Amino acid sequence: MVFVRLTGCNLRCDFCDTKYAFEAGEEMMVGEILSEREKYPSKWVCITGGEPFIQPLDELVGRLKADGSLIQIETNGTIFQPVTCDWLAVSPKKERRPVEAMLERADEIKIVVDSKAALDFAEEYEAWGTCHSVQPENNHEEATKLCLDFVAKHPQWRLSMQLHKLINIR
Ligand code: SF4
Repeated sequence: MVFVRLTGCNLRCDFCDTKYAFEAGEEMMVGEILSEREKYPSKWVCITGGEPFIQPLDELVGRLKADGSLIQIETNGTIFQPVTCDWLAVSPKKERRPVEAMLERADEIKIVVDSKAALDFAEEYEAWGTCHSVQPENNHEEATKLCLDFVAKHPQWRLSMQLHKLINIR
């Protein structure tokens, strides 16, 4: 999968591990992003951030799809845009909850777990999406234990580790 990480986010979660994405990065035209994307043969492109929906995505998504890419978007779900993608992963945050229009379109609900309270929060989102995952915050041992206990008792949820951190790639 190729990742397109967009700058900026409308939230400031305590556990955010991509704070650099609030400001860092360089301004690029959609055509320049497409040129970069061409260097990587993967069919799937993941558009993430930050929060990607704070920027208009229709041109980027439309041109990537026209080139034959499959598009996954990772979002906190607080901003609606009528963009069509192949997989929409909504990660609700307590700081500001997702809007219903995004939950209705969600394929995946992903909850970052830093405490038992996050698991109670997760259960509020079982009705949305077809795939449900809990992700231990920063792969912490305690959070991983909480998630493992949770998925053992809630088989509709799966464990999602941050694999890139486990194998030390960015
Ligand atoms: S929504 Fe995501 S990118 Fe934005 S502050 Fe929270 S964890 Fe970080």
